[in-house]
Amino acid sequence: MHIQANQLTYTYMKGTPFEKNALTKVDLSLSSGQFTSIIGHTGSGKSTLVQHLNGLLKPTEGTITIGDWIIRPETKQKNLYSLREHVGMVFQFPEHQLFNETILQDVAYGPINFGKTKQEAEDIAKECLHKVGIPETLYDQSPFDISGGQMRRVAIAGVLALDPTLLILDEPTAGLDPHGQETIMHLFYEWFQETDERSIVLVTHQMEDAARYSDQILVMDRGQVVDQGSPEHIFSKGTELRKLGLSVPQSVQLLQAVRSECGGDMEIDAFTLEE
Ligand code: ADP
Repeated sequence: MHIQANQLTYTYMKGTPFEKNALTKVDLSLSSGQFTSIIGHTGSGKSTLVQHLNGLLKPTEGTITIGDWIIRPETKQKNLYSLREHVGMVFQFPEHQLFNETILQDVAYGPINFGKTKQEAEDIAKECLHKVGIPETLYDQSPFDISGGQMRRVAIAGVLALDPTLLILDEPTAGLDPHGQETIMHLFYEWFQETDERSIVLVTHQMEDAARYSDQILVMDRGQVVDQGSPEHIFSKGTELRKLGLSVPQSVQLLQAVRSECGGDMEIDAFTLEE
């Protein structure tokens, strides 16, 4: 889904002494079918921005357009329910939202809520649990009796079960060890590649992930998008990134070093280097 923000401004607790401006006149345009990462220092407005992408937050001023939905300050919540069928959201620690008696029921809950029959929902749930690597033997167990890593997979299956077109990932690998982080990111990337229509917007502190998976990266600072471009473009600006408290990932540093050794005209990317 195409995403466009026009002069998007968001202020928490507007009109109170605790008023806090989190986004200021953000303009941006993201084509559909893209993997976009958002990087920026803590407090730069990344989470606030992505919470506008499924209508969890509405602009204080300006507009945000997601596919056919235009969200303005005055847009009513009831007009956004249908948007949520198309936009999946995985927050930090999504396993905190598990609540059903069995793993299968938990994953089937969303599809049932959006009108599928019990049988249809269970078939979808089984397919998604398979995709995230949860064995069938666990389907009837409580989601609270499995490991933390498995709980996260079940929670992710619950989001994928809604067959979103746009997936918002806000630090989805927080708290996992490096191996766990890699498997989860790989899983999202496989999902993204299954069809051309799917888009991902990832908020991350992991510069390696941003470099590895993104078609484009947005850099945020103090409530504004201060740069947007390919990983190559963004990570060629090491000095500017360091000023924002960000770093150039090691794989890219290595790539840049190899390039400069070769006179700067080698056509390789970070993936090529890793393989
Ligand atoms: P990031 O995701 O980049 O860390 P956030 O979008 O969470 O940034 O925060 C942007 C700004 O808004 C920060 O100054 C933060 O303190 C403030 N903020 C975030 N959530 C709230 C909230 N619920 N109430 C008040 N201020 C908030």
